[in-house]
Amino acid sequence: MSTALPPGSVIGVLGGGQLGRMIAQAAGPLGYHTHIFAPSRGPATQVCDRATIADYDDEEALAAFAEAVDAVTFEFENVPAATAAFLAERVPVRPNARSLEIAQHRLKEKTFVRDEVGVPTAPFHAVTNAAELAEAMEKLGTKGVLKTCRFGYDGKGQTFVEQGEDMVAAWARVAGDKAEHDCILEGFVPFELEASVVVARAVDGSVAAFDLVENRHEHHILKQTLAPAQVSGDVMAKAREIAERIVTALDYVGVMGVEMFLTADGGVLVNEMAPRPHNSGHWTIDGAVCSQFEQCVRAVMGLPLGSPERRGDVVMTNVLGHEVDAFGEWLADGQVKIHLYGKAEAREGRKMGHLTRVLPFGALSQD
Ligand code: AMP
Repeated sequence: MSTALPPGSVIGVLGGGQLGRMIAQAAGPLGYHTHIFAPSRGPATQVCDRATIADYDDEEALAAFAEAVDAVTFEFENVPAATAAFLAERVPVRPNARSLEIAQHRLKEKTFVRDEVGVPTAPFHAVTNAAELAEAMEKLGTKGVLKTCRFGYDGKGQTFVEQGEDMVAAWARVAGDKAEHDCILEGFVPFELEASVVVARAVDGSVAAFDLVENRHEHHILKQTLAPAQVSGDVMAKAREIAERIVTALDYVGVMGVEMFLTADGGVLVNEMAPRPHNSGHWTIDGAVCSQFEQCVRAVMGLPLGSPERRGDVVMTNVLGHEVDAFGEWLADGQVKIHLYGKAEAREGRKMGHLTRVLPFGALSQD
């Protein structure tokens, strides 16, 4: 493969969190070095070969970083567009700018998925003030979910809106005291399951999707992922095809998490896409032949993808906040694989690590 960067090359990662840490941990066995660029030290800088601690608009630091690495990826989607563009003039940045731009903006994301990929989403309307919210609620005719277009995550920056409620108050729950703000109103989807497909696409356009998984949340934060989701083969295939079509339409290189709602009638609706490895793919480290982080490194460095095949049925549980204090209990269970992220302070809801249990094939269907 002519595009392949040889062992000894350096993968540059924007962001210093746990995803960057696990990318660095996957890069080592392939013979690569990892250089993290982040505004402060964090989980990733504990395990990388080199770190630059600087702001994302520090052009001097960015230029030196670009000189020192062979390809760049990012481990969070809110990388400033100007940072990605600055780097892309100097070194390959994967995934591309368009994927980043679309994934950063919920309205662009849903419009792209519905109109360009031709895949179902919740019905949605652009709204920029309380009056438009009232109009859009009327068009919707059902319960709605109002979300900011940018910087929402884990249920932050969103609220449920009931028909007949005070729209000014609903607006303020998301926009605060801003009269005008970029928001999206979605129809509430009465889903049966929340699920996701993590998919990788290589420089040569080949695609490898992991199996559809079920995601269980607590207080809007992912708590547990079950691989595979216990759904029909048709739904599994449909979900996989959707994820593959999305990355192909974007000429994407890297790993993407595609979050979906599954409805009782077998429908698969796309909710969100994350242009990076995804929490619902952490099970792949212990539970698949090639993990999502290895796929990310392979794609970004121009290598062929590995196999996404499962090694069994897998349960991944996030360790949130002070749950990390149960460390001794996990150690007593030799079947559980422990992944801690090296965070010093266990704030409530903070992702401190995850636990993976690989079970025999078919074990989840017997529950
Ligand atoms: P998001 O930030 O878009 O991932 O939304 C966070 C959570 O809110 C999702 O995991 C769902 O549980 C819920 N949610 C978001 N959008 C909708 C929707 N249109 N209908 C029903 N539930 C939703």
